Amino acid sequence: MSLNKVVLDIRNKQRIKPSSLDYPCAVWTGVDLLDGREIDTLTLIFKTSGCWWGKAGGCTMCGYVYDSAATPPSDDELLSQFKNAMKKASEFNNFMVKIFTSGSFLDEKEIPLDVRHSILSSLEDDERVSKVIVETRPEFVTNETMSDCMAVLKETSFEIATGLETSSDLIRKNSINKGFTFDDFKKASKAARDNAVTVKAYLMLKPPFLTEKEALEDMVNSVLEAAPYSDMFSINLCNIQSGTFVERLWERGQYRPPWLWSIIEVIKRVKAENPDLIITSDPVGAGSKRGPRNCRECSRDVADAIRRFSVTQDLSSFDHLNCECKDLWENVLELDEHTFGSAILD
Ligand code: SF4
Ligand SMILES: [Zn+2]
Repeated sequence: MSLNKVVLDIRNKQRIKPSSLDYPCAVWTGVDLLDGREIDTLTLIFKTSGCWWGKAGGCTMCGYVYDSAATPPSDDELLSQFKNAMKKASEFNNFMVKIFTSGSFLDEKEIPLDVRHSILSSLEDDERVSKVIVETRPEFVTNETMSDCMAVLKETSFEIATGLETSSDLIRKNSINKGFTFDDFKKASKAARDNAVTVKAYLMLKPPFLTEKEALEDMVNSVLEAAPYSDMFSINLCNIQSGTFVERLWERGQYRPPWLWSIIEVIKRVKAENPDLIITSDPVGAGSKRGPRNCRECSRDVADAIRRFSVTQDLSSFDHLNCECKDLWENVLELDEHTFGSAILD
């Protein structure tokens, strides 16, 4: 049985709950880095008909597909979602907008062309918006889509964010079931850059079937190998989302999310080789049983340090961190090899 079939069987047992289509799936404000300076951000996740790849099976760790709409939203409903989300930015004087769809903003089956144009044109007209970032799979990043977006976003910086996850085709295929190759990402990056659009790569620390050490090495290699094609990196730490293949492994004791010490090690090693690379990471769910974690004593402080590093790029954010569990993590790096990735410790 193929990995995609297993993932699809799990998906088919889940139910998508009906909800209002006039409001986005989620919207929140925060702070991010823009040209080396902190800037306010508005992040919104549209409720669309969903990621085409996720509906066909999709990625082993992804539960976002269940955030999609039970029935496809109309153009007016999508525009209402956008207007309602923008209300959250009413106090901002200067901000960046990050648009997710739990799929691809540039897939016209999720966001029809006219809706895309209306949204981008409204952001272009809003003088407070410095930059727009949209999440998309690479197959939608072509010379045509990039020039189409840039014809609307004349004065506003534009970036595409793509879940490359790893530079290894083997891991992307057999651990994540992502459905595209590193070459596809490189082609998308070229199409973007040819149109003055910047590129952000999302990477994934510790997809299933990798030991802690293999996962750590994979991230260091991935950042260094993808650096020529990406302007910045955001490293997601795999967590356990409901209704996913990763959740099934975790329930059987065959998967543990990554240690927070591992992402710090990745950042330190990559920065030592390439100090100018921008690397961010938001350890979502850190310290919880479904999230990335160290021990109970230090997970919260270590996660805060990772967030602080992400907005400052200052390695001294990690200077004060120490905990007895660091020795344990070092042992896990060695011993994990013998259990083929099954968790040694909770
Ligand atoms: S991770 Fe992205 S590409 Fe994969 S199924 Fe989820 S939304 Fe689709
Ligand atoms: Zn600890």
